[in-house]
Amino acid sequence: MNNQSYDIVIVGGGLVGNSLALALAESSLRVAVVEATDYAQKTESTDDNRAIGLSYTSQRILQKLGVWSQIEAKAHPIDSVHLSLQGRFGVATISAAEQGLDSLGCNIDIQYLQKILAEKVRLEKHLNLYTPYRVTLCQRVEGQWQLTVSNGVSSQNLHARLVVAADGSDSELRRTVGITAQVWDYQQSALVSRLTFTKPLNSRSYERFTRLGLMAILPAGEYDATSIWCMNKDQAAYWQAADERILLQQLQSVWGYRLGRLQSATPAIQYPLRRIEANELYRDGFILIGNAAQTLHPVAAQGFNLGLRSAMMLAEVLLWSQKMGRDYAESAVLAEYVAKQAQDRKQIARFTHFLVSRFAKENEFFKQWQPLALCGLEWVPGAKFLLARLGLGGAQKALWV
Ligand SMILES: Cc1cc2nc3c(=O)[nH]c(=O)nc-3n(C[C@H](O)[C@H](O)[C@H](O)COP(=O)(O)OP(=O)(O)OC[C@H]3O[C@@H](n4cnc5c(N)ncnc54)[C@H](O)[C@@H]3O)c2cc1C
Repeated sequence: MNNQSYDIVIVGGGLVGNSLALALAESSLRVAVVEATDYAQKTESTDDNRAIGLSYTSQRILQKLGVWSQIEAKAHPIDSVHLSLQGRFGVATISAAEQGLDSLGCNIDIQYLQKILAEKVRLEKHLNLYTPYRVTLCQRVEGQWQLTVSNGVSSQNLHARLVVAADGSDSELRRTVGITAQVWDYQQSALVSRLTFTKPLNSRSYERFTRLGLMAILPAGEYDATSIWCMNKDQAAYWQAADERILLQQLQSVWGYRLGRLQSATPAIQYPLRRIEANELYRDGFILIGNAAQTLHPVAAQGFNLGLRSAMMLAEVLLWSQKMGRDYAESAVLAEYVAKQAQDRKQIARFTHFLVSRFAKENEFFKQWQPLALCGLEWVPGAKFLLARLGLGGAQKALWV
């Protein structure tokens, strides 16, 4: 069996793992990325139709990673957000102009974002890519990690001083090293579909609190949008199986005619919604990031945005430690990263939980207060500012933006 030694092995070449790899690409550290799926298949499959809302901070980070110009070319800016309630009074608008900003963020096809990051990782001379390779064994041997990676035909052994587990919500590595996680099943799914309207979206995204759950309509072209509709699992299964005509009628009746007539809807794909929080984030020479560390409900569109900020913070701490001649894999350094990132993580988790409990789930008590909450947003000085700042990912000041 082949043996290779690296300073850092990142397991999972998803959005967060690849972003971290790019942040480390210029350093003298020997870095490898292990990704189970073939990149070409991953970015061309039709089984993921999500769009990712990127915050302003994320845009700045992607610029720093050298991929923003390609992403910008296909991104759809969000200049304002319109909030409303189905069948009840209460409307609020948050606009970039009133917050003194150029834009509130943008919306990008997840497959395209994955493709651009993966291509950049592939082109980086200093990064070593193992794909399609799955980590099948991860054990601590004489103060280092030994990973066995296999592509189904052959296996290799990789030795690493530091393993970064960016292997997603159901992280096998998290389990393998014995880190437990708390899981809250919202008993909901997000139903995602691409829609075409007869009126232009004008760079506006919409959040509508419907009787079934929260619906977000995000711009994906002049007349095109991605809709994300959260609802209980049984209803999601029903609407996923419905034919296009019936789905169109249902969407139109819930959505109304604010954007004119709904012309088409692609078949909906369901995403189960869970909140997952790892009980520990690091062990000796081992750290969790991205969805492996925390998985959030998409109501606040913060999962990747938070994961990206974490990846940048981790890179910053590791590189600084290396520069200072410290052992970047030691627990004290990893604890430093966790402490620096704690406030951002806590704030976003709280914000997301607040939105889920008050707006995204069926809750008779909070339903009565939703119209007031929206009016409050219009009337209470500073409320929109706070919401816009959290959405922008601007809570944190760091060296990399
Ligand atoms: C409906 C929906 C809408 C969303 N909208 C937004 C949004 O608007 N904005 C936002 O910021 N976030 C959003 N999110 C969240 C966002 O999609 C995730 O936070 C983000 O994709 C997590 O990236 P990740 O790299 O941590 O994990 P993943 O994307 O899950 O990547 C993990 C990678 O690890 C690989 N892997 C797993 N096991 C192994 C192994 N043993 N060996 C090798 N490789 C392995 C997998 O193949 C995969 O490529 C949304 C989520 C949902 C469900």
